[in-house]
Amino acid sequence: MTSIQSKDERISILHLEDDAVDAEYFADALRGAGLQCDITLAQNREAFQAALSKSGPRFDLILSDNSLPGFNGIEALAMAKAKRPDLPFLFLSGSIGEEAAIETLKNGATDYILKSRTSRLLPAITRALKEKHESKERKRAEEALRISEERYALSALGANDGLWDWDLKTGTIFFSTRWKTMLGYREEEIGSDPEEWLKLIHPEEAEIVRLQIDRHLKGNSAKLECEYRIRTQRGVYLWVLCRGIAVKDAEGVAYRIAGSQGDITERKRAEEQLLYDAFHDSLTGLFNRSLFLNRLQRLLWVAKRKDSIQFSMLLLGIDRFGGINDGLGREVGDLIMKEASRRIEKTMRPGDTLARMGGDEFAILMEDARSQSDTIRMVQSIQEEFQTAFLADDSEAFLTISAGIVNGTDSYQAPEHILRDAGIALGKAKSQGKSGFTVFDPGMHAQALAVLKLETDLRRAIERNEFRVHYQPILSLASDKITGFEALVRWQHPTRGLVPPMEFIPFAEESHFINEIGKIVLKEACTRMKTWQRGFPQRQDLTISVNVSGKQFKQQDLIRQIDQILSASGLDPKCLKLEVTETAIMDDPNAAAKMLLELREIGISLQIDDFGTGFSSLGYLHKFPMQALKIDRSFVNMIGQEGENAEISSTIITMAHNLGMQVIAEGIETPMHLHFLKEMGCEFGQGFYFSKPVDEVSAEKMISMA
Ligand code: C2E
Ligand code: MG
Ligand code: MG
Repeated sequence: MTSIQSKDERISILHLEDDAVDAEYFADALRGAGLQCDITLAQNREAFQAALSKSGPRFDLILSDNSLPGFNGIEALAMAKAKRPDLPFLFLSGSIGEEAAIETLKNGATDYILKSRTSRLLPAITRALKEKHESKERKRAEEALRISEERYALSALGANDGLWDWDLKTGTIFFSTRWKTMLGYREEEIGSDPEEWLKLIHPEEAEIVRLQIDRHLKGNSAKLECEYRIRTQRGVYLWVLCRGIAVKDAEGVAYRIAGSQGDITERKRAEEQLLYDAFHDSLTGLFNRSLFLNRLQRLLWVAKRKDSIQFSMLLLGIDRFGGINDGLGREVGDLIMKEASRRIEKTMRPGDTLARMGGDEFAILMEDARSQSDTIRMVQSIQEEFQTAFLADDSEAFLTISAGIVNGTDSYQAPEHILRDAGIALGKAKSQGKSGFTVFDPGMHAQALAVLKLETDLRRAIERNEFRVHYQPILSLASDKITGFEALVRWQHPTRGLVPPMEFIPFAEESHFINEIGKIVLKEACTRMKTWQRGFPQRQDLTISVNVSGKQFKQQDLIRQIDQILSASGLDPKCLKLEVTETAIMDDPNAAAKMLLELREIGISLQIDDFGTGFSSLGYLHKFPMQALKIDRSFVNMIGQEGENAEISSTIITMAHNLGMQVIAEGIETPMHLHFLKEMGCEFGQGFYFSKPVDEVSAEKMISMA
């Protein structure tokens, strides 16, 4: 019927009337006029009182007769006002004089209607209900404002917020002093125009703030709450949080909006930092692994939709960076890493993504690699950047970098798979030496799997004792007598037969297996030599040479291991010679130097194996406590029939002697090799010309025959 009564809402009326017929008459009149209502009839004081009690039904309105037996309208009004002051109270009376009517209104009645004028009843009820509704709304708005004002006053005290109060009717706004000082303005520098505020908001947020205010004023949001940057008097931007609430009139039109504005710059900065940290490498400031994976994933999605997309991923690894950290210290290592990242960054093209993946690895995503040569050119320019020395903290280091390349196709399902393949390609590049690159091809998968299988096999081989040690005699070239043996490991494989060391030692070196295998060989060799010395008491001078790989030097307890093996076997340390390659030393020169000195102190002899194949100079190697060097067999092999091409061997021998080292020639295969090496004054020799490596039974025979 009215805007107050919605379709399925019924009005609940409490009717105080002693005359049941009268009551029925009014009920009919109201319903006849279309009012959906429930009427509760109270015919005396007790019933009226009970109906008003808290536990009674909820009413929207009271209709009251003026005179009842022992009760009257004025009393009923007082009772109603005391219990339910919000309920409209309408008098309905047969005869009420002007004065009485005024009296009732003074006492708080909403209206009065003569019983004879029932046509007035419905409009009066409608008006009363509307007023009731409006006053409720007004109260709610006022309450909301009061609460919010109190809240803001409190938070303003606590959080130092500025307050504002915008009168929408006059279009003026009040800013608290704090509001102004927060932005660096003096009291008089900001007036009362809302535009003074809005125009200070950062252009990127200005529009949205206006929209949000508008939305709230139109009643589309419960409260105004927005974050934006606002320009201070000094021209810098602060991040602020603005909160506000509108106050509306009876028609629901906002006439005032007020709230606070607080500085949240610190919080924003912390949030931004968190976000930044989540996707950046803290040392170099480059993107990190998670961001890189994100980008890869995004690219895969794009690639699935468009087939014209060609991308490449490069995984770069600095060669032997561990040595830098250990040798020059972590801090210098960090400086060099930063410099390295800058050098790589220099070669980037717009649109490429560069990330540090952790450790010494970087990754580059080239989203529009048109051809493979683009990618390779990129690798080459990075490698060129690395050609100049890295200077850090008085130290100078030369670094090289290798790359694994994956040419992306949409056949990849997950970014991790691309990363995995790039890793395989990088591993391959590194295994082929420094400063290289390898493009991934699916065949490498098979290879990687084979390596994995080899590792499982090696583990089993250790458990099942499948390693054998063979011995190759070493002779004094002056006397042609055997002075000792080199212990050389073999793998008695259940199906492959006797596997030579070059087929598994390099793999074992990439894992920790080399330490296990090294220990097995050392123990076997020392024990065997002691047995021979016991069996041939006149040969207490026989020595045993054992190969030690670079990785073994990194074991903290190597000395203890060797000590234990020596005392368990009873072998004199003087009879043990350890063979170390140049690369094993250069891998980590500082650690190696320390270890070698300690070994030397125990009385063990040390010799450089495969001399001439590495990159170091003899002058440098001499700093390490070495007693002998072994000329690599490739140089011995060069020596021809007439002694030609013997210069390298002869130079090495002369230099070694000058530095007080003895020389052992490896790979003597012909009488000519032997002849010229003798001429050059080489002390010892070993090679197929004398004997191939043999098992312990044959080796023992050789000792007995000498
Ligand atoms: P190496 O220490 O330089 O050992 C000498 C290698 O040269 C041996 O190969 C030996 O059989 C071979 N050889 C000796 N005389 C001649 C010759 O006249 N002509 C030719 N062509 N070759 C000759 P092998 O036994 O296959 O061992 C290969 C390498 O495996 C060794 O080179 C060594 O680096 C490594 N290795 C062997 N055993 C061990 C071990 O127990 N531990 C470690 N870490 N490495 C080992
Ligand atoms: Mg050797
Ligand atoms: Mg050798």
